[in-house]
This record gives sequence, C-alpha cells and structure tokens, in this order.
Amino acid sequence: MKKLFIVANWKSNKTESEAKEWISKVSGLKDQDLSNKDIILCPSFIHLPIAKTLIKEQMLPVGLGAQDISLFEAGAYTGEVSAKQIKEFAKIVIIGHSERRNNFGENDDILFKKFKLAKENGLAVIFCVQGKETKIPENVDIIAYEPINAIGTGNPDTPENAENVAAYFKANFKVPAVLYGGSVTASNVNSFTQMPNIDGILVGKASLDPEEFYAIIQNV
Ligand code: PEP
Repeated sequence: MKKLFIVANWKSNKTESEAKEWISKVSGLKDQDLSNKDIILCPSFIHLPIAKTLIKEQMLPVGLGAQDISLFEAGAYTGEVSAKQIKEFAKIVIIGHSERRNNFGENDDILFKKFKLAKENGLAVIFCVQGKETKIPENVDIIAYEPINAIGTGNPDTPENAENVAAYFKANFKVPAVLYGGSVTASNVNSFTQMPNIDGILVGKASLDPEEFYAIIQNV
C-alpha cells in the first residue's frame, strides 16, 4: 500500500490559543495505526515552536512543515525567516504556492533559489505547480498540483484530471510523489487519493477545522 501525505496548510490563520485547541482536538491520532500516512501540519512561523512542543508532549504522529522560507541565508534580512531557523522546527517546506506567486511576486527564479536553499539546509520540499506548464527544479521531492481555480473555491479539479497531471510529472520529470490540493474535504478526499499516481493531499480551508481534518485523515 502506498504511503499518503496528508498536509495541512493553515496559511495566516489561527491565534496561539486556536492553534493549541486544534492540536488538542486531534490528540486521538496517537491511538491510530497511521503507518501508511504521513501527516504534516504547516502552521504560521510563529506557531511552529508551540506546535513542536505540544506534538512532542502529546506524542502525536504529526510532522511539522513551514509554509515558506526566506530567499536569503540567515543574516541582515529584516522580517525574514531563514531555512536554517526553520530547520529547528520543521522537516519540510512548501515552496511556490500560488498565493506566494500571485500576492508576493515570486517567480521561477526566486522559487528555484528558495528550493536550493531549502535543500542545502536539509529540508524536504513540497513544490507547488499550477499545471503541466509550471517549471520545477531538478530533483524535487514532492510536487503539489494545485490548479488556481480550485484553491479555496469549493470547486475541486476532477480526480481524473489531477491523476493525468500527476502521471505527467512522474513520467517526464521522475518526481517521486505528487499531491493534489484544491478544495479537498472529508467527502471528496478519497476520490483523489485512490488515484494511482496521487500520493496525498494538501489541504487549506478544510484543515482549519480539526474535526474536518480528522475526518479527512480517516477517509483518505
Ligand atoms: C491551498 O491553498 O493550498 C489549498 C489547497 O487550499 P484549499 O484547500 O482551501 O482549496
């Protein structure tokens, strides 16, 4: 049976107390057999330390990821969070989310540099693509196919089309794992994860509600 990634992207949501509450509400995960599931929580940078502490204390089978990294190494870059800093808390980082491309002007050049920095600092990368036309760096670990019109709209892509894009990246670029993201819920998750070339899901809105995210984990 293939191992499935189930990735929660909180974006810039949740106060510290809300983050703590979410983690306490998924505490039942520690009593489940999750050997074929890799659950990764990507909170805001500011919540990585408390999430790391609580996950350790409660022995939860949840890994931590970051939603982005600085384009620069550690140093005189006010407001930035470097890969070296993130590495203390997270094992993986999302790079190239369409919200970064569209709202923060991140282009292929910037994203390829971020990818290089992440790898040099020992972080795995989930590199987001919006379709077959998106350029990807060499030796990318994991791709997340996230069509823009499916993100946060309630209109997911079809599982067949997502499968077709996943198969394309695997066949042409030897990408080891391809995730699907875009309006995934507990009701539709299985239609994607049952596809042979889809290795998991990246979940935005539905990951904010711990009960819904818990149900997604059960239903993959
Ligand atoms: C995302 O932004 O990565 C995402 C998949 O969002 P949503 O699940 O809300 O569509």
